[in-house]
Amino acid sequence: MSEPTKKSMDEIMALCKRRGFVFQASEIYGGLNGFWDYGPLGAQLKKNLRDAWWADCVLNPPAAPGGGDVAMVGLDTCIIQHPKVWEASGHVAGFNDPMVDCRESKKRYRADHLWVRSATGLDGQVFLVCLAAGGAEEANDAWGAMKRRKDVPGPIWDLLVQASGTDRAYTDLSPEQRAAVLGPDASKPGSLTDPRPFNLMFPTIVGATGDWETNKAYLRPETAQGIFVNFKNVVDTSRVRVPFGIAQTGKAFRNEVTPRNFTFRSREFEQMEIEFFCRPEDAREWYVYWRDNRLAWWRSLGLASDNLRLREHDADELAHYAKEGAGTSDIEYRFPFTFPGFGELEGVSHRSDFDLRQHQQHSGVKMDYFDQERNERYIPHVIEPSAGLDRGVLALLCEAYTPDPERASKVYMKFHPRIAPIKAAVFPLVNKDGMPEVAERLRNDLRARFSMIEYDAKQSIGKRYARMDEAGCPFCFTIDGETLTDNSVTVRDRDTLSQERIALDAVVGYLADRLGSAR
Ligand code: ATP
Repeated sequence: MSEPTKKSMDEIMALCKRRGFVFQASEIYGGLNGFWDYGPLGAQLKKNLRDAWWADCVLNPPAAPGGGDVAMVGLDTCIIQHPKVWEASGHVAGFNDPMVDCRESKKRYRADHLWVRSATGLDGQVFLVCLAAGGAEEANDAWGAMKRRKDVPGPIWDLLVQASGTDRAYTDLSPEQRAAVLGPDASKPGSLTDPRPFNLMFPTIVGATGDWETNKAYLRPETAQGIFVNFKNVVDTSRVRVPFGIAQTGKAFRNEVTPRNFTFRSREFEQMEIEFFCRPEDAREWYVYWRDNRLAWWRSLGLASDNLRLREHDADELAHYAKEGAGTSDIEYRFPFTFPGFGELEGVSHRSDFDLRQHQQHSGVKMDYFDQERNERYIPHVIEPSAGLDRGVLALLCEAYTPDPERASKVYMKFHPRIAPIKAAVFPLVNKDGMPEVAERLRNDLRARFSMIEYDAKQSIGKRYARMDEAGCPFCFTIDGETLTDNSVTVRDRDTLSQERIALDAVVGYLADRLGSAR
């Protein structure tokens, strides 16, 4: 396995802007922290990833553990649900992050992202702080980045250079030690408050006559609860029988204390979630099924094995709903900003019967399932693979980004053909002599079969290839003088740069073979 190298996040973000993958939301008004828009190429990339997930999880899921079919259905539920949904799910009481305010800079941080080293200066012992979401592993990098900053004031820089000791979590300090902490954006120690819980749900008011007391509702912080509250509806109206799964994709909103790392931690994002209902005694087997298949799925889309890992949670990390001995794992990707560490892409967890039981208790509606064959009534257990679509897109963008000084574009996006936003480009070599007519006909044939086919007749062929390399288009077909005499075209491969001639009427089949089930 080759040594993994750290790519430049600044360069990746610059390409995303330049080529229309991702824009800052409300950019002309200065942007809004934690919100991102997708440009033409980004919107298609995101759609391709969402469609691939739907195709492989809902329409054609992997075979069951012992062989045989896996029953899956889809759902599309509201962003705003009855507020009691979030009381039952535990989000109103417990969906909190510990938050710390800086009285001097007025900035706000997540307490569990603050990492501390000690130094002596400014009349005594001081604790310096750096920001790192990925834990102590990432903190080491963050110290390095702080030392490279040119705007650190002299006295603080002196402290920074001598700051030593292993990184300690801010939350582990005593109140006296916290009083000696110099905040990341402060000039004097003691400006940080104690950690306080901050609820991450976005509140809103429903109706024209509403007020915060009587008509308060929330934007959903996850798509999962829309599935649980419809469990009975799905069982009663479709022919699914346990074991089966319900899947949904959609927006989720979290008022993150410190949105950061491009789209990785946003305040508005999209999830792709499955709730798989099974008999309690089969939960372990289905957990392993989903964990392994979800990892294999991300790999099948081109995320290299050394950048992708599965991390089983330790017993002390398990969420409140997870049973002792039940599995919870994260599928993690090595992003440039977590390098050499990893960041979560998807969580797979055995949620026991927690959610259905909670909704049964809060709504008074029975959430049990009647197994006709066994003549038995029970509340099913749930395995939840919960993936972030935006984090998936970000991982694909980071993985695809490939610097290549030999190319005119200096960089190309090596997307797996299945998720590449532009599937193929068609070029007439020159914009005359009958070539545009043939090229347009080919373009039309391809458009009828595949999504996003680019047509470009301008500039030199080299420049056109360079544009497609940066957009990550895997195949370019060129119509030239020879095409008019022997009906052949040149196909150029983005990754190998090889060019071969194939018959004009073989192009559709050529692309279909290479794109698999993708359109
Ligand atoms: P984290 O620990 O990174 O905040 P989480 O464990 O709270 O994530 P889950 O509640 O398990 O995340 O949500 C499932 C998935 O939703 C995550 O694996 C991630 O891909 C995505 N996700 C969660 N929060 C965000 C966010 N703020 N921005 C983008 N994607 C997110």
